[in-house]
Amino acid sequence: MKNRICTLILVYLVILLLAIPFPAMGFTPSSSTINWTFPVGGDGHTYDVRRNVKYGTTVENTDYRVRNLDLISNRNAGHLTCFYVGWHSIFHAGVDLYRLSGSTSNAQVKAVADGVVVYVLPSVYPGNVVIVRHNVSASNIIYSVYSHILASVSANQNVQTGGEIGRVIYQQYDGRYPEFHPGQPPDDSHLHFEMRNFEDARGVFPQCDNADRVGPGYSYPNDPTTYGWVDPLNYINARIPKQPRAFLPLVQSSASATECQESENLIVNGNFAAGSSSDPIPWLPVATSFDWGPLILTVDGNRLAKMGNYETEGVTDEELTQSFTIPGGTERLEWKYSFLLQTTDDTGIPHDYFSLELLDATTGLSLLSSNTCGYDNTYHWRGQWYAGTCNIRSVSQFGGRKVRIAYIGRVNGDFNFSSFSVDNVQVLTHCSTQGSGSSTNYPSAQSMP
Ligand SMILES: [Zn+2]
Repeated sequence: MKNRICTLILVYLVILLLAIPFPAMGFTPSSSTINWTFPVGGDGHTYDVRRNVKYGTTVENTDYRVRNLDLISNRNAGHLTCFYVGWHSIFHAGVDLYRLSGSTSNAQVKAVADGVVVYVLPSVYPGNVVIVRHNVSASNIIYSVYSHILASVSANQNVQTGGEIGRVIYQQYDGRYPEFHPGQPPDDSHLHFEMRNFEDARGVFPQCDNADRVGPGYSYPNDPTTYGWVDPLNYINARIPKQPRAFLPLVQSSASATECQESENLIVNGNFAAGSSSDPIPWLPVATSFDWGPLILTVDGNRLAKMGNYETEGVTDEELTQSFTIPGGTERLEWKYSFLLQTTDDTGIPHDYFSLELLDATTGLSLLSSNTCGYDNTYHWRGQWYAGTCNIRSVSQFGGRKVRIAYIGRVNGDFNFSSFSVDNVQVLTHCSTQGSGSSTNYPSAQSMP
């Protein structure tokens, strides 16, 4: 995270004076289709941005467009900023990718698509920085930027998707939370990776004194998208062929799925307790991006589903779903669950939340016309587990139909971070002979001890 490029500008200028001018860039016409891949991975390691939580607050987040609490006023470490404001006020213009376990040092860095190397920065960033131009079409050119590496390519060289760009260099961690950086000394080796619509960042932030086209790695006062950066992982993820949205061996209730039996639970493994590798996967995370981490995991001894940090992705694509068949004669479904919202959103304002939806299992279309069982986002269920109930009325028209329920994250757009944990899910039938009972479109919630 600590690019420290501004503190190294003088060193760089010396090198610049010694360097011969870079030759004119070759231009390689693109083919009609470009294959994209991620800049790290495929080597048996899982990579991700770093998101560490302490005291319930995200204290370190190396995602794109993030203002990072880890960097607050770390004056003792002698950090300067490019913008003469606190670290927590500047926006990360790329992602810092780490191995989830072990040091990222020496990890192979790969070209994310066919392109031509237009620039290699000498080793002052720290490490080299490589900029690759990708000609998506005659009118669409985008650049990928790989930082804190030992480059194995040179300017004007053509690269192909997945071809080696270099290796991640070793870096030591000197921030406020060494406990999240195992190693002695604490390890901060990572790839800083950007994608942007321009090659040369000189002049983008004059106040940053960035005399080099690489740029400072951060933006201020606005988020980097304002200046022509893009969310690099979202960009690539949107261009990588997806596995079809197979809704995995969703466990069916052993009881009759054809005729309503009062208070039958249609969800098996609703508490995620048996989610071992030998079991059928009871819940399916849908359309998650680039190794954001498992959605079903063990926390404090409980297996549960945790979806989170939607805001940093700028999209609401983390979703958890399970399907079942609504028995004929069912009048109402009572959807019960435990949930936990953890968020850095301020209190007293609409915050991130998740919605609960009933969807056709095949088409994915909502079956709730006046939806919804979602949360009014002015509620403040946060920081502790609650029990929620959502009554889905008038499902008799869906008897025999295969449906799925889904928890879908929703954001309020303020760049704070939230996660949503779900556990103890049940969907109980209420048959038409039993009457529809009381019902509400919003869940009732009560605190759990
Ligand atoms: Zn970075």
